[in-house]
Formats: sequence, C-alpha cells, structure tokens
Amino acid sequence: MNYRQDQNGTIYVILKLNKRQNSASWHKNPDCVVNLFKKKETEKVNAMKVLRLYDANNLRLEEKQKPYPTESEVLLKIASVGICGSDIHYFHEGGTGSLQLDQPLILGHEFSAWVESGFQKGQLVTVDPALPCGTCEFCREGNPNFCEKLEFAGAEETDGALQEFVCWPASSIYPLPEQFSPQAGALFEPLGIAIHALHLGKVFPGMDVGVFGAGTVGLLTIQMAKLAGAARIFATDLLPHRLDAALACGATDVLPADGNEAEKILKLTGGRGLDVTFEAAGDDGSAVETAVIASKRGGTAVLIGIPSEDTTCFTASAARRRGLTIKLSRRMKNTYPTAIRLVANGMVDLQPIITHQFTLDNYELAFKTAAQREGVKVFIDFAS
Ligand SMILES: [Zn+2]
Ligand SMILES: [Zn+2]
Repeated sequence: MNYRQDQNGTIYVILKLNKRQNSASWHKNPDCVVNLFKKKETEKVNAMKVLRLYDANNLRLEEKQKPYPTESEVLLKIASVGICGSDIHYFHEGGTGSLQLDQPLILGHEFSAWVESGFQKGQLVTVDPALPCGTCEFCREGNPNFCEKLEFAGAEETDGALQEFVCWPASSIYPLPEQFSPQAGALFEPLGIAIHALHLGKVFPGMDVGVFGAGTVGLLTIQMAKLAGAARIFATDLLPHRLDAALACGATDVLPADGNEAEKILKLTGGRGLDVTFEAAGDDGSAVETAVIASKRGGTAVLIGIPSEDTTCFTASAARRRGLTIKLSRRMKNTYPTAIRLVANGMVDLQPIITHQFTLDNYELAFKTAAQREGVKVFIDFAS
C-alpha cells in the first residue's frame, strides 16, 4: 500500500493514482487520498480555498486540505490567475473542443505564484502549466506540445491554479525579476502562444502581417510581429476598445470585424494581400475566412483560436488559388525563458493587457466579465 507522511506526522494513504503514476499528482484528486488520522485542528490550519467546476455553469468555492510537495516539487502560493477563453468554454460548455469534463476540475493555467517551500520562499515565479512526459515519440521528436501523455494545469484530470496553494514540479517554474507584478507573471503562457505562433508564421523584416482577433493572444502576437520587423500590421476585432489596445501594441492599421475587413485590407495593400496572417479570434470561422481572403498568393495563415463549435471553414477556392500554407498552432514549446527576456528587456509590454482584477471570492463577476469580453484580460488575484 502506498502511503506518506507530512511534516505534522499525518499519514495519508493513496487509494488510486491518476494516469501520471507518480507523486506529483497523487494529492490533486481529493478523492484519491484518505487522511487516516483526521485531526480537526490540523485540518483547519491546513485548509485552503479552491474553486471547482462541477459541470457547465456550476463553479463552487470550497475548502480542501493544503497539499504537500514531494522532493521534486515546490509548494506554491498562487498570486494571480488569468482567465482564458478556454476556461470560459469549460465554464459555459463543460469542456473545450472534444474534451468534456468527466470529473470536477479546478481551472486556471495562466498563473504566477510565490514560492512557499524551500530556500526561495517568497520568490515570485511564473509557472509552465504543461507537463510533457519527455519520453514519448512526439516529445523525443522535439514537439513536447504534441506529447501524448501531456498533463496540463486546469484541463482533464490535472487541477489548475484557481486554489490557494499548488504543488508543481520545480523544473516547470521560472523565477521572475523583481519589477514583475503577479498579473504580468500570469501572462507568460499566452505570450508563449504568441511566440510559438510567430515561429510558425516565419515573419521577416518588411513583411505585411494581419492579426485577426485582438484579445490577449492577438495583442501579444501583434507585439511579436512588430519585433520581427513587420512593415504593416493590420488588426481586426469586433470591439472598439480592443482595436485601441491593438494600436497601443503596435498595429499600424485597425479595422472593425464587420465582414468587409479582408476586402479593405486587399485594397489597402494594392490588391496584393498579406505575407502572413494570424487568426486569434476562435470565433465561428469568420476570422479564418478573413485570414484566407486577406493573404497574398503563396502566403501563410496561422490559426491560433479555438472555435466554440469545434469546426472551422473557409472558401476552398480562395485558399487554393493562393496556394496558401495553413498552419494550426498547438500551445508552445520551450518559450518561457525567451518570454521572460522579452518582458524584462522592455521589448514586450504586458501593461495594455492587464485590465480587470478580482478576488477569488468575486469569481462569479470575474467569469462574467471575461465572458462578456470586457477589457482584455481578467485576473483573479490572491492575497500575498
Ligand atoms: Zn489559455
Ligand atoms: Zn511526451
């Protein structure tokens, strides 16, 4: 029988292990651990708040026992969690794409935290929510983002960061320089997505680029395209305040997503179209269509968004006649060190993204605000 003892001498028995048969996740599923010697006082001292999703539109703020790290893990006190479009899908639809909730789940994969255990106690860190196995065929090919045994915070069976404390492998946390805020620290996951998308798009100096959808990932993609030397950056969105943010992030031309934006872009580029287009809307497919129509012949379109209906479409003849290369972006590779350097050196500005902050107790309003697409990024902040 598997058991372990914490620093207070409490013994735990593991009844059932998660698919990752190692200690990093054994305490994440509350049902798999039984506290043999329940001491009411100890429990109270070690209780923490967690926000669990039980079903579509059914989030509950509960208490659970604080976890204890293994030798390879660090106990983290959560600082700030960004609410992502995929969290909203989980909340409203009980899943995202073909992934459906089959057990209660703690959401949250964009997060920063303070180290709570060990000599680095108090250090602000950003956390890579992805834990690839490192040994499957796809990891070995250098594509950990395609890992077939990937665990990801706040998805499937792996609880995320909307709880006061989390244990996470030390190898997947990154200390942040002093000037970083907890909210900035929670933006390295979406920045990683933008970095990966830029790599796929292969933007070179002087190119004309389009970014369709000016949410968090779109705005960061605009900044990355500018850094790569794009001459013109066209940005579209349905919401005027996001177009303003796009300008602040370096877009040269902003257009409302009214169905005519592709035609306008073709006109503004003398009929040529764009070298590289990025779809970052995850809408019903209209941003994908814009990306196709606004592309030049021989251009590249990178699809980043997650469509709510899990299908997307575009005009086949338009893509074919352009000989378009369409790439689908899947998460990211090892982008955290680069992302931290970009922000630390002032090359990427996270400030235009940070617009709304709530406490954990106000989670209902936080999710509502994010779902209504007010501002850009909604954060749930934890007390330091
Ligand atoms: Zn996300
Ligand atoms: Zn793998």
